[in-house]
Amino acid sequence: MANKAYKFRLYPTKKQEQLLAKTFGCVRFVYNKMLAERKEMYEQFKDDKEMLKKQKFPTPAKYKKEFAWLKEVDSLALANAQLHLQKAYKSFFSGRAEFPKFKSRKARQSYTTNVVNGNIMLLDGYIKLPKLKLVKIKQHREIPPHHIIKSCTVSRTKTGQYYISVLTEYEHQPIQKEVQAVVGLDFSMNGLFVDSEEGKKTNYPRFYRQALEKLAKEQRILSRRNKGSNRWHKQRLKVAKLHEKIANQRKDFLHKESHKLPKRYDCVVIEDLNMKGMSQALNFGKSVADNAWGMFTTFLQYKLEGQGKKLIKINKWFPSSKTCSSCGQVKEKLSLSERVFQCECGLVIDRDWNASINIKNEGLRLLA
Ligand SMILES: [Zn+2]
Repeated sequence: MANKAYKFRLYPTKKQEQLLAKTFGCVRFVYNKMLAERKEMYEQFKDDKEMLKKQKFPTPAKYKKEFAWLKEVDSLALANAQLHLQKAYKSFFSGRAEFPKFKSRKARQSYTTNVVNGNIMLLDGYIKLPKLKLVKIKQHREIPPHHIIKSCTVSRTKTGQYYISVLTEYEHQPIQKEVQAVVGLDFSMNGLFVDSEEGKKTNYPRFYRQALEKLAKEQRILSRRNKGSNRWHKQRLKVAKLHEKIANQRKDFLHKESHKLPKRYDCVVIEDLNMKGMSQALNFGKSVADNAWGMFTTFLQYKLEGQGKKLIKINKWFPSSKTCSSCGQVKEKLSLSERVFQCECGLVIDRDWNASINIKNEGLRLLA
């Protein structure tokens, strides 16, 4: 079984918008209530693990008696709030995450609901959802008939656009392809990557880089406005809109580029980079923190695996930049400003291209 999500824009009516706002609010309310109770329980019993295990956790049903208005919204959305909290708790206890935080009114507004007895259905230009009935949808692509819808997440962006992410499940057993064509990719700081075959740099489109410059400019204007004033609010909305536009452009671009590679190659080799550590060490701040590379490799992995192909991640300590791709000699030092790699053996090559060839060779070694 495999999963695939499809995201579409929703166009709710005014009345549906009100119910959506209510649902987001109720989900947040229930989540925060449950979290507060669990927190108290945790504080009380944290030294006695056995007692802590025995405690019964609150459920949304409990609050429905006290807060009757919770009954007005999709009950599956509230049930999912409980599941989300349980997941956050598990991550905390297994040491993978911090203690769950309260959901703020300012955070992304969303809720998830599940398919039960035909409560969710895609009809011509509309999607039927619990409590909301028919909501207008822009379904720009078909969901294949062998995909079964499992759940839907409805969200509202900061600028008031509505989206639905439809999660489907389908039977899928890709046949493993024999590896013939292999490519290595080196993450590039001011583009996306450089590939080992042609040393070609894949860079963001011009309109995207221009949009980033525009964002920086609008953010400077925002910082000069008086916080809370009318003009500040107006500018803040402008900045939020640009953010959304840029995020969409980036996602489209990463989808497009990650789609191209499995067409040409059976195996892609990359370095397993820790972006958080890297952006701190090299001090590039936000450009890497927005984690385009992470998103790109996630897309690439599922696209390759869906076709029975491979993504190989090599150890981040492998000296891909310092090694000569021709004779194998490893340099002791290579500063970031040296954009051309020169070796005693006579090799003169673009630094990133050299690294991508080494990454490919290391992948071939691991494959063998
Ligand atoms: Zn050399």
